[in-house]
Amino acid sequence: MNITLSTGKIIPIEMHKVKIVQKTNLPSSKRRLEAINEAGYNTFLLRTRDVFLDMLTDSGTNAMSDNQLGAMMVSDEAYAGSESFYKLADAVKEVLGFKYLLPVHQGRAAEHLLAKAFVKPGDVVPMNYHFTTTKAHVDLAGGKVAEIFKEGALETASSNPFKGNLDPAKLEALVKQHGVAHIPFVRMEATTNLIGGQPFSMANLREVKAMAASFGIPLVFDGSLISENAYFIQQREPEFKGATIQQVITELMKNVDIFYMSGRKSAAVRGGLIATNEKKFYDAILPWLPVYEGFATYGGMSTKEVEAMAVGLREMTEQAVASSGADFIQYFVNRLEEEGVPVVTPAGGLACHLDAMRFLPHIPQAQYPAGALAAAFYIASGVRGMERGTVSMDRDAQGNDVMSDLELLRLAVPRRLYTMSHIEYAVDRVKWLYAHREMVGGLQFVEEPPVLRFFFGRLEPVGDWGVQLAAAFRADFGDEF
Ligand SMILES: *Cc1c(COP(=O)(O)O)cnc(C)c1O
Repeated sequence: MNITLSTGKIIPIEMHKVKIVQKTNLPSSKRRLEAINEAGYNTFLLRTRDVFLDMLTDSGTNAMSDNQLGAMMVSDEAYAGSESFYKLADAVKEVLGFKYLLPVHQGRAAEHLLAKAFVKPGDVVPMNYHFTTTKAHVDLAGGKVAEIFKEGALETASSNPFKGNLDPAKLEALVKQHGVAHIPFVRMEATTNLIGGQPFSMANLREVKAMAASFGIPLVFDGSLISENAYFIQQREPEFKGATIQQVITELMKNVDIFYMSGRKSAAVRGGLIATNEKKFYDAILPWLPVYEGFATYGGMSTKEVEAMAVGLREMTEQAVASSGADFIQYFVNRLEEEGVPVVTPAGGLACHLDAMRFLPHIPQAQYPAGALAAAFYIASGVRGMERGTVSMDRDAQGNDVMSDLELLRLAVPRRLYTMSHIEYAVDRVKWLYAHREMVGGLQFVEEPPVLRFFFGRLEPVGDWGVQLAAAFRADFGDEF
């Protein structure tokens, strides 16, 4: 929620109060330099004792509500037939409108099962943009991802409210090129994670659904950030001005054949689900569920999380909850724009994204500017962000780097976790780093796994810029910070 102050300034305001706290620790810049070296300049490999603000991801890191925690205490621990499952099924029916539910342990598990059930070697899966784990599962099943976003989707400085839109004309061309038999489904991701959490519009979803339906191709909806996408539709699409989040969600779901989500984002729960109204889709996936996840009434989640998800799904339809991340991200982005720092605009759904190609134009893409920016920002702040650029792309069959469309440092804003002063601290340290950006150099791999290398890969700086940057920081802020 935003609130207007008497000065006319608009600020996001927390519509919740803190009941439980966890201590955090701000290591000195000396320790941060050691820690990033120990982590192979990969923020995934940092330990949280060395992290002040954890802006790596909003996945599984959102603050839960008291009602969610309370629900966990009454879960029904049963391998099969747990009452907790039926509560979740009721919430799925009520909020999303689907009768069949398949719980899974997290979003990528849903992607695994969908790929297993529907993607054959040689298939093409069109989508508005890929997500790392989605692409991995489509590739492993022998298929290929086709990204058919609209022109302008990759412009980081933009005023396009719906950069997540899919181009229906490209979908038609793709179907004609490959044939209906090789297109198992069309996937719409709400909101497009890798290009800055950008939403698609309802108008676009309707068009895509109509085009897909004309060929008899099902529409799969990745709803990991469904409440954020619904919030942006409410705020940015005139037809939905004044609509409730639930009304927007209900309208979205009219266009969906198979829904899946990571519960770790919008629903603030460590879990995931697949849902549909079509028995044939349910039947195609169900046999794989116990093989890879668990029995059909828990799907690899603990029953505590199943309970909390039922509550989380209902809560994400509340205005104050759906807007809780987005409004702080908007503020974060605005503040950095005021400081002249290149960020992705419009503000998106999961994070504030710095544009590393504009921030560090002197670093060639082959030296991973977004990875370098993530490491440099950690040294300058103790804040952990995530590289979303070429490091996040695996090499092609010939062993060459695949250059990412964008080089972003993602500073995730987990919902209801951090406060305004945390955001202001991060803004200040980004500003300091921007003033010292010429000191930051590139990275090179030292150890590189073949799949999803960004998770475990180890890198080193080209030159000793990390040491120099930490020294410059100490000169300005002293040894303590
Ligand atoms: C996080 C995410 C996933 C994967 O979910 P996990 O729970 O992390 O496995 C899939 N799609 C999107 C859009 C996501 O944001």
